[in-house]
Amino acid sequence: MKFNPRYSSLNSKLYHHQMPVPLVGATAGHFNEALADELNWDEQDKTGWVEICSGQKTFDEFPPLAMVYAGHQFGQWAGQLGDGRGLLIAQIIDQHGQIIDLHLKGAGKTPYSRMGDGRAVLRSVIREYLAGHALNALGVPSSNAVGFTTSSQGVQREQLELGAMMLRSSDCHIRLGHFEWINQYAPELLKEFVQKSIEWHYPECLKAEKPVLAFATKVIQNTAIMIAKWQLVGFAHGVMNTDNLNITGSTLDFGPYGFMERFRPNWINNHSDYNGRYTYQQQPSIAHWNLWVWLNNLIPLVANEEKEQFKEELAQCLEHFETTFLEHYKMGLCQKMGLPDFHKESFDCGMAFLRILQSEQLDYTQSFVRLQNKQYTALKDDCLDTRQFDAFLTQYDNIRANQDIYELGIKMTKVNPIYILRNHMAQKAIELAEKGDFSEVDRLFKLLSTPFTPQPERETEQDLAPLPNDMAEVTVSCSS
Ligand code: AMP
Ligand code: MG
Repeated sequence: MKFNPRYSSLNSKLYHHQMPVPLVGATAGHFNEALADELNWDEQDKTGWVEICSGQKTFDEFPPLAMVYAGHQFGQWAGQLGDGRGLLIAQIIDQHGQIIDLHLKGAGKTPYSRMGDGRAVLRSVIREYLAGHALNALGVPSSNAVGFTTSSQGVQREQLELGAMMLRSSDCHIRLGHFEWINQYAPELLKEFVQKSIEWHYPECLKAEKPVLAFATKVIQNTAIMIAKWQLVGFAHGVMNTDNLNITGSTLDFGPYGFMERFRPNWINNHSDYNGRYTYQQQPSIAHWNLWVWLNNLIPLVANEEKEQFKEELAQCLEHFETTFLEHYKMGLCQKMGLPDFHKESFDCGMAFLRILQSEQLDYTQSFVRLQNKQYTALKDDCLDTRQFDAFLTQYDNIRANQDIYELGIKMTKVNPIYILRNHMAQKAIELAEKGDFSEVDRLFKLLSTPFTPQPERETEQDLAPLPNDMAEVTVSCSS
């Protein structure tokens, strides 16, 4: 590995150096060798991956540290948070020259653990491991993980579970909540922190006339693009607190996430989300709200007499959210539908299709695949209101008449996954893994590596099956 320990060049108030506390008797769970290669791991690192992914081996080039940050959780100011069970154990240079953070999750208590035990359980580690991998393969910017380990050491949650550790990779662990912490507890650090955030993550903004505004605009646009991609693949993050969104717009900290099965935009996947704040359909407006909170933390950068104008400029930056989101979402939906994005009726037609999926409670992923395969009869057979479907199909055919259907069809195959991580798939892999059998984790890992490609030799019927009509969606507990 090639190191660039840049985070530890920041003021030491922003982190706490400490070593991981390894789980007793850690054993291999799963290793993502292709990712390790991309991250320039050499043979020695790869052979020793279990030691690295269980906190037994750290690197002289990078003393591990826990970051401090703050945040708004479920819309309320939560005060100081921070890495309560994760440590940044390395910043390394990947094959593309990009600096990637390696963050060991479940590495023991830190000064920011509050009431927590600093640990992670196998169930949630497997969920995060597979989902990060799936999102990356789906083309959604996201953290990923090099590997995870487990141990017979018990960790108490609602019940006693197996402990685990996961080595997460991400282009950025600077959260919106970092800026909130600085303003509240160490405002003298704001200027330098913003400057470093720009230098590290948006160096092109340094050349702009107003670098901070260019930076804010980029963060807003990248977040909007990420959310558009979530919506298009049917991903619900589940805990979009300001401490769980970073400044590069790559998905992070998705605990009780869910890939939507039935198209039910107001489905609550997080068991602790009593008011449905973080449902699928709320994600764009919540991201907008989080960014608004974040922008307020940039205001102290200017002198009092400039504040009013600066606030207006920041508000203008935020206007990019809606335009960027809609641009990407509309284009993506047209592509999924096999409709030309320049046609004025394409988006309406896409929405008409979604209304059918919603009213008929059809499977989101399977329905797009059926549309792509021109299985219109199968789609119609699942509808109670067949007239609504016929009206849609007429509109759909009209728009596609005289278009290059072949070309549109090719585009559809690149954006409509055949395989997503349905909750029951993850659940089965977890149950086997808890008995020491990681073969199902491995099968899903491979299946989800190429989600757009049919894999008849690897898939099972259940991977494709929609939820039975009488089965409710699962809500996932936040405790992990
Ligand atoms: P999350 O909602 O998972 O993003 O976590 C919110 C905060 O709680 C973060 O600061 C985490 O580090 C912390 N946290 C979550 N679980 C634990 C745990 N088991 N032990 C210590 N801190 C935790
Ligand atoms: Mg978090």
